[in-house]
Amino acid sequence: MKRIAIIGGGISGLSALHFLKQAAGDSLEITLFEKDRRPGGTIDTDRSDGFISDWGPNGFLDKVPLTLSMVDELGLRPFLEPASPKAEKRFIYRHNCLHEITPSPFKFLGSPLLTLPGRLRLVCEPFVKAKKDELEEPIFDFAVRRIGREAAENMIVPMVSGIFGGDAKKLSLPACFPIMAEMEKEYGSLFKALIARKKAGSNAGPAGPSGRLTSFKNGLYTLIETMHRRYGDYIKTGIEVVRIDKSEDGFHLHFKSREPEVFETVFCATPSLAAANFFSGMDKKLQALLESIPYASISVVSLGYYRRDVRHNLEGFGFLVPRNQNLRILGSIWTSSIFKDSAPPGMVLFRTMVGGATDPEAVYLAEPELIRVVENELNRIVGLEGKPVYTRVFKYEQGIPQFVMGHPQKMKQLEGFEKQYPGLYFTGNAYDGVGLNDCVIRSEKVVTRFLIRDKDFKWISFDR
Ligand SMILES: Cc1cc2nc3c(=O)[nH]c(=O)nc-3n(C[C@H](O)[C@H](O)[C@H](O)COP(=O)(O)OP(=O)(O)OC[C@H]3O[C@@H](n4cnc5c(N)ncnc54)[C@H](O)[C@@H]3O)c2cc1C
Repeated sequence: MKRIAIIGGGISGLSALHFLKQAAGDSLEITLFEKDRRPGGTIDTDRSDGFISDWGPNGFLDKVPLTLSMVDELGLRPFLEPASPKAEKRFIYRHNCLHEITPSPFKFLGSPLLTLPGRLRLVCEPFVKAKKDELEEPIFDFAVRRIGREAAENMIVPMVSGIFGGDAKKLSLPACFPIMAEMEKEYGSLFKALIARKKAGSNAGPAGPSGRLTSFKNGLYTLIETMHRRYGDYIKTGIEVVRIDKSEDGFHLHFKSREPEVFETVFCATPSLAAANFFSGMDKKLQALLESIPYASISVVSLGYYRRDVRHNLEGFGFLVPRNQNLRILGSIWTSSIFKDSAPPGMVLFRTMVGGATDPEAVYLAEPELIRVVENELNRIVGLEGKPVYTRVFKYEQGIPQFVMGHPQKMKQLEGFEKQYPGLYFTGNAYDGVGLNDCVIRSEKVVTRFLIRDKDFKWISFDR
């Protein structure tokens, strides 16, 4: 029987395990090694004092059929919790107040989010000449070129920190928002592309397919708990892989505290920086490639208040803060407006992000200091009249991979290494996309590659 190792028990490793078990049942000998005592990686849920607060991601967009079919296969459909339709409004904080982001161009023209010249510049987007060359461009430069500097700084920069915890001036447009890059190429303008796509029946926005944020009634960790229960026999927690060597027998996995083992196939599903260490002996170039994908640190500060102690009506999803507003928080999600059972009756829950690529020091602030920063800044924005009754801080020193300029070339090189070492696959959020859906898609893609290669004994390359 073929021996297969999966390294890393976050959603990428667990979904690879799921797809392998779905396709091959017991015909493969599969072991997932996770260094922590619990699987889940950045996914976890604190369920205490009546609050349900996710540590990292707080859901996924319900527009990826693959994730939903995995949810079905796990019997979790009845436990899905879509975001409340009441939480549709989203805001940007600028000039001391919250501005609703409206999809209606007419309402937008009347919105004081941007100055009048800023709004007029943005609506001129269809008349801006399309870029002709194929050169990679940072997201910020693209946005300035198409919609003007003011809209770029106050709409795109906060969106980038909200999704990637990233710096729009450093991140690559084709790597982070491939659809936006394609829209300009195909239609010459984002507005024209949106109109054409709408006519064709698509409701995808420039940042990708839209969809409703969805979690589970008891928090996102429900997904991990269910996978752990179903596949527990194949998951070994508390086991850290330190090195991989290659010989004619296969891949030799070296562990921190047990004897090495040999596997014919290895799926690396750890963060890329962790995976880099595995190859220090086997292939220094592969190690360097994986090391070259930087990560941004990020902290999530969850605060629960009595509803009566918050002046704002909290009707909406939450808000983002442009980096030019002299605030440290990147944005705040009004979790109890999105998922009503995430706070006990009469209370509300905020999940506020601090740090990211533009504030790398924030993750080293002591917890009381982080809480103080968030309380002060939230108070300025939503008006707080009391102290929080629930406080939790979740810190990630290597939180979110950054698809900086050059990322698409790195991915081509990685594909080259996967061809050079048949049986070695990489999945995780550091390659194709940082969202939970992206991880599931990537895992299914590498498992399919494995199954086809294994069946036909030849390499078949898949393009997404
Ligand atoms: C604060 C925050 C908020 C986010 N919000 C959202 C959101 O709302 N929606 C969304 O779609 N995405 C969100 N994301 C992104 C999403 O959480 C991640 O993309 C996804 O969970 C990554 O899963 P993964 O399995 O690839 O990696 P991880 O979750 O990092 O899992 C990797 C696993 O590998 C293990 N490991 C590492 N080294 C070793 C080793 N040597 N040996 C064995 N095991 C090892 C780790 O312990 C870990 O369990 C967010 C991320 C963060 C940090």
